[in-house]
Amino acid sequence: MNRTRTRFHRVELESGYAVGSVNAWLVDGDPFTLVDAGSRLPGAIERVEAACAALGRRVEQIEQLILTHHHVDHVGLAAEVARRSGATVVALAQTAAYLADWDAQVARDVAFARAALRVHGFPAAIAEETGARLQAEARWAGAVRVDRRLAVGEVVAIGSGSFEVLHRPGHSETDTVFLDAAGGVTISGDHLMRDHASMPMFDRPIDTATEYVAQARRCERLLRYRGSLADSLHDLDGLMIPGHGEPFEQPREVIGRHLAFQDEQARQVLDLFGRGETLSACAVAERLWPRTAFRWPFLSASTILGVLGRLADEERLTPVALDGDAIAYRRPR
Ligand SMILES: [Zn+2]
Repeated sequence: MNRTRTRFHRVELESGYAVGSVNAWLVDGDPFTLVDAGSRLPGAIERVEAACAALGRRVEQIEQLILTHHHVDHVGLAAEVARRSGATVVALAQTAAYLADWDAQVARDVAFARAALRVHGFPAAIAEETGARLQAEARWAGAVRVDRRLAVGEVVAIGSGSFEVLHRPGHSETDTVFLDAAGGVTISGDHLMRDHASMPMFDRPIDTATEYVAQARRCERLLRYRGSLADSLHDLDGLMIPGHGEPFEQPREVIGRHLAFQDEQARQVLDLFGRGETLSACAVAERLWPRTAFRWPFLSASTILGVLGRLADEERLTPVALDGDAIAYRRPR
């Protein structure tokens, strides 16, 4: 079979986050498609306009807008693009539910993040500040009406390709991968990137609106991510179109590198635990990154909580309930 591979044009936008830039992708076909929509920061829409113009097109001509997950830096311009173009907005049903109810969902995320940081030993001031920061960053996006709510296994036409919808949660709750096996190209979003480590963000489970403390004590996100990566090891091949960084080939090699890095990180974290010593996630973060643990507290916490959850699952660490709701870990006796 000699199919042409769908051509994705990269639009690099400022994310506003530590990761640096974020990608949106234009596909000049039928329908004229935009994949992801950056953060709504000054100059962002102008960059999308310029990228359209380079293809001889305008934002108003975008017919399909596909969103890979619900994070701020991937949905920021979605409402404006949809309003100006009338494009069909396409996303996983779970993503759609979040985007329909942006302000309420963000408020829950903020409450959850504060609870999570406190439960895991971070100072109250850091928890408060992080909540305020998440609230402020949420203004880089807003509510979006999704017209086509996807279920796993559905097929989306992009350019010359037919892309199968896969749910590969772990980086976020809603990570959606679009696989065109015949065309040899996959929109991997933030699920799989070559230039950035696989980062399990400590997101609130989307259907959780109460019981934040109980949820915050469950640290299964890295395990879930590793399950998704194991699935991708089987079915991803060819060219990857990521949420951040350059497109890349040989996804299996990249997944192997990520898994090896996670193993190394698990060893490093485990080594911090002396015999009989009990450490919170915050204490681990401060030992691992003495200067920078609190620079991006939610990133630090997400990384460490992923590793601690994995080590607990493998019975290399044991969770310990402390006073109040707090939780820490130690080596098993
Ligand atoms: Zn991202």
